[in-house]
Amino acid sequence: MQPQDFEKIVSPVSVAHFSQYKLTRLLVEHAKKLDFQICTTESLKGVTDGGAIRGREILMGHECVSIDTSSDNFVGVTVSSLVEGEYKQRDFRCKVLVGADGAGSTVRKLMGIDLRGEKDLQKLVSVHFLSRDLGKYILSERPGMLYFIFNTGAIGVLVAHDLEQGEFVLQIPFYPPQQDINDFSPKICEEIIFKLVGRELLDIDVIDVKPWVMHAEVAEKYVCCDSRILVAGDAAHRFPPAGGFGMNTGIQDAHNLAWKLASVLDGTSSSSLLETYEAERRPIALLNTALSVKNFRAAMSVPSALGLDPKIANSVHRAVNVLPSGIQKAALDGIFSIGRMQLSNFFLNESNPLVSPRLEKLKQIFREGKSLQLQFPAEDLGFRYFKGALIPDKIGGMAPLEPPTGRRRDYVPSADPGSRLPHMNMRVLSNSPEEEIVSTLDLVRADKIEFLLIVAPVEASYHLAHVAFKVAKEFKVSARVCVVWPYDAVGGVEASSKAALAPWENFIDVQEVKRSLTNSLSSSWWSICQMSDRGAILVRPDEHIAWRVKSGIAGDPVQEMKRVFSAVLGVK
Ligand SMILES: Cc1cc2nc3c(=O)[nH]c(=O)nc-3n(C[C@H](O)[C@H](O)[C@H](O)COP(=O)(O)OP(=O)(O)OC[C@H]3O[C@@H](n4cnc5c(N)ncnc54)[C@H](O)[C@@H]3O)c2cc1C
Repeated sequence: MQPQDFEKIVSPVSVAHFSQYKLTRLLVEHAKKLDFQICTTESLKGVTDGGAIRGREILMGHECVSIDTSSDNFVGVTVSSLVEGEYKQRDFRCKVLVGADGAGSTVRKLMGIDLRGEKDLQKLVSVHFLSRDLGKYILSERPGMLYFIFNTGAIGVLVAHDLEQGEFVLQIPFYPPQQDINDFSPKICEEIIFKLVGRELLDIDVIDVKPWVMHAEVAEKYVCCDSRILVAGDAAHRFPPAGGFGMNTGIQDAHNLAWKLASVLDGTSSSSLLETYEAERRPIALLNTALSVKNFRAAMSVPSALGLDPKIANSVHRAVNVLPSGIQKAALDGIFSIGRMQLSNFFLNESNPLVSPRLEKLKQIFREGKSLQLQFPAEDLGFRYFKGALIPDKIGGMAPLEPPTGRRRDYVPSADPGSRLPHMNMRVLSNSPEEEIVSTLDLVRADKIEFLLIVAPVEASYHLAHVAFKVAKEFKVSARVCVVWPYDAVGGVEASSKAALAPWENFIDVQEVKRSLTNSLSSSWWSICQMSDRGAILVRPDEHIAWRVKSGIAGDPVQEMKRVFSAVLGVK
C-alpha cells in the first residue's frame, strides 16, 4: 500500500484490511437493525409450511437443493435444513431468485450455467490460527500484513489479520490425492507454522483448516429464466485472491443489483432492467479476473526466481501421479524437500556463483515493484459500465477502459456515464447550526430508490431540475436535486434555490470544500468532472452516473429527460 491510499482524497474512506468473518458478523448485526429477523433452524422447529418467505427474514442453515421453474408466476425453491438431527425439506415460492451461494454455487449448477476461464491454478489449505506470541514478535520485528515465507522446512503465505490480537491465516500449497486434508491436523499445522516462523509458539491455537482451489473463471451468463434467476458474487466469478478483488467484486454485484431488483419488484421498472445487471457486471468480472491472474503470476515471480517455480511443482506433481500409488506420497515429499534445499544458507548466498544471478533477479523484482500489488485504484474505484442502464455521451463516445497491465495505476475521477460518481467533500448549506461535511457519494440516498440530479445554481439548470422532478414523477420514481455552490459563494444562497425550485422541495444545497493547495488534484467540482457549470449529472441509486450533459441541453429538456428515464428504467 502507498501513503496516498490512506489520505481520503479520492474516496471518503481509506483502504482497510478487515477479516471477512468479522465483516459478515457486522452485516448480520446491521440487518437486525433494519428489522431483519435472523431465523436459525432451531427457531423454525415445527414450522412445516413453505409458501412465500415473509419479508425481512434470513433463514440460517438452509441449503437450496432444487429449483422449479415450471410455473410462469413464481420460481419454486426447495431448501433443506438439519432439524433435531434430521434433514427436513421445505418449499418456497419467490418472484426472483439470486444465487449468491459462493464459488461452488448450487443455483448456478442447477441452472446449467457454465463457467469460462482457467480451472485449478493452484490448490491450497487455509489455516486460521491465533497466537499473540507471534503477533507480538512480528509487531516488534517486522510489522506487515502479508508474508511470503520460503525456507528449507516449509513454504507458505501468512496473512496477518490482527497483530494486536495475534490472528492469522496461513495458506499452504496442497497436492491431493497424495496429500489428504486429514494430513493437515491441527498438530501438523502447528508444526508447519513453527517451521515457517523459525521457532515454537507457546500459545498457538489452530481454529480452522480448510482446503480450497484457485480458479480464474466467470459464468457465461448472470441472468436466466426470463430474468427470474440470477447469480452474484463468487457464484458468478471466482479468481485468485491476488489484489483483493473477490469479495469486492461480489459487493459491487450486489450494489448494482439491489436498486434494480427493488424497482422491478415495486413495478417502477420492467424486468428487462435485470438484464442490464449482466451487461454491466460481467465485463467487470472478466477484467478483474484478468487483473488477478496477472497479479498472481507477478507474485509467483518471487518463488520462480528462487528456483521454486509453482509451474514446475505442478508438473512434478503430475509426473508423480503416474508412479505406483504406494510410493507417490514419499516421492512427492522427497522431491519437494530437495526443492526447498535450494533455500538453505549454504546454497543461497551471494558468494555462490550458481545462485547469484537468482538473487540479482530477485532484487530486480523488488526494486521495480514487480511482485504482488495490493492496491489498484484505477480498477477499484475507476471501474465503469459501458452498456446497460445508462445513456452514453453522444459526442465522442466513451474511451474504452485500458486492459489491465497487472501494475498499479492511479484512479482518475470521471463523470462519464457508467462511472462511479467522483468523491468531493461538500459543506451542507442549511439552517442547522452544526457544520456538516459530506461526500458527494453520500448525497445519494441509501434507504430508497432515488435518482440524484447534480447541477450548478444557474437558471438553465434550475429549469432542467424542474423538468427532471416532473418527468421522474411521471415515471413514478423519486428524484432529488443537488445544487453545488462554488467554495467562494457568499452566505444565504439556500433562499435562491428554494425560490428557483418551488414548489419542488426534494433538493439540497451544498458548497464545495476547498482542497488543500498542496494537492495536485483540481479544486472545483466541475473541473474534477471535466465539465462546465452549465452541465448536469444524473446519478443512479448505486452511485453510478446514468446520464450527463457537459454544458447544457441543446434540444427540448422534457424530451431529453423522458428519453433518459425511459432508457435507464427500461420502461416506455
Ligand atoms: C485465501 C483467500 C483470500 C481472499 N482475500 C480476499 C480479499 O482480500 N479481498 C476480497 O475482496 N476477496 C478476497 N477473497 C475472496 C472472497 O473470500 C470471496 O470472493 C467472497 O467470500 C465471495 O463472497 P460470496 O458471498 O459470493 O460467497 P461466499 O463467501 O462463499 O458465501 C456463500 C454463502 O452461500 C452459502 N451457500 C452455499 N451453498 C448454498 C446453498 N446451496 N444454499 C444456500 N446457501 C448456500 C455458503 O454457506 C456461504 O454462506 C479471498 C478468498 C480466499 C480464498
